Amino acid sequence: MLYLDNAATTPVLEAALRAAWPWLTTEFGNPSSTHELGLRAKAALDEARASVAASLGAKSSEVVFTSGATEANNLAIKGLALANPRGRHIVSSPTEHESVLQAIDHLVRIHDFEVTWLPVGRDGLVTTDALLSVIRPDTTLVALMWVNNETGAMAPIAEIAQACRQVDVPLHVDAVQAVIHETVDVSDIACTSLALSGHKLGAPKGSGALFVRSGSHIEPLLSGGGQEAGQRSGTENVAWAVAFAVALDIRVKNRGEALAFDADAFIERVLREVPGAQLSGDRASRSPLIASFVFEGVAGETVLLELERRGVICSSGSACAAGRDEPSHVLTAMGLDADLARTAVRFSFTPVLAEWPSTAPGANQEVTNDSLDEVVEALREIVTSLR
Ligand code: PMP
Repeated sequence: MLYLDNAATTPVLEAALRAAWPWLTTEFGNPSSTHELGLRAKAALDEARASVAASLGAKSSEVVFTSGATEANNLAIKGLALANPRGRHIVSSPTEHESVLQAIDHLVRIHDFEVTWLPVGRDGLVTTDALLSVIRPDTTLVALMWVNNETGAMAPIAEIAQACRQVDVPLHVDAVQAVIHETVDVSDIACTSLALSGHKLGAPKGSGALFVRSGSHIEPLLSGGGQEAGQRSGTENVAWAVAFAVALDIRVKNRGEALAFDADAFIERVLREVPGAQLSGDRASRSPLIASFVFEGVAGETVLLELERRGVICSSGSACAAGRDEPSHVLTAMGLDADLARTAVRFSFTPVLAEWPSTAPGANQEVTNDSLDEVVEALREIVTSLR
């Protein structure tokens, strides 16, 4: 089976699981305890934090471990907006992940915030000029993603962050899909906060982190014992923090390795050979790990089922929205009509690492140019017969 749904999730790296194991078994101490077991757990947590910080070009004190990116996005958006006395205006994009959209909706419904949604072009991108034109004296936060999880469109995030810094407005970046391939260095990207999810890069589901730049004020979502420097109360999940740090470190060390496939050539062939195919998101400014198409005149769900019958696993878009009949909010925001948006099929890749478990069930065929050629051939046959 050829697994091409890595933007939804990935198998856990053996090295990450091995590193986590002691902290689930013999080393079960609570990192807040002052006895020997607790001190060892605290040391492991500190080490994981230092490692994540090093991976991001951050300081240890700027890393908050969370249960993933949904929590990290909520903590950043609600936490920064509510702690900023400047006002109640937020700027974001309609193509953000649901965890961003719903966190903003919460601020609007419960706390009387106002939002300006930036216009997105057919390329799926917002522009820095459009962003600057809507900043107001009462703008408390800008929230924008780096790489879109449905289309792979890649925002000019360093430029956007610089613009936000110049007008002194905090920027929160959802970097979940970017960190897998791009260099994420918060000393280059002048954002205030940045969200990461572990299960997209070989750590367990329910792991992740939020970078919060020193000096930023954040209102915690969870009140309690004051763990994570008061920003996220609750006994820390030492094992998942350790696993996340190891998986991220492996990613960072493997960056720059050539991919085992040519995503651009795959896109080119699909566009040339599959009838009615259009690429979603900008052709040039994109992550090589996500390629999403619409195929005019066919139901995306039927294409998925047919591909699955032939051993190719992919999705129509975000796993969080799978099974719903509504067209993707990302594609409709980009100007696609609902019928065309319902024909979407997303292929998402991950760099092949020596550390991937070789027997991961359901993911046992290597993604190479040859296997992608077979996918194009299958797509051409399926779409041709359905149209
Ligand atoms: N943001 C983006 C861009 C994502 O792709 C995802 C995962 N679908 C999330 C946030 C949420 O991450 P998690 O599953 O860790 O809550």
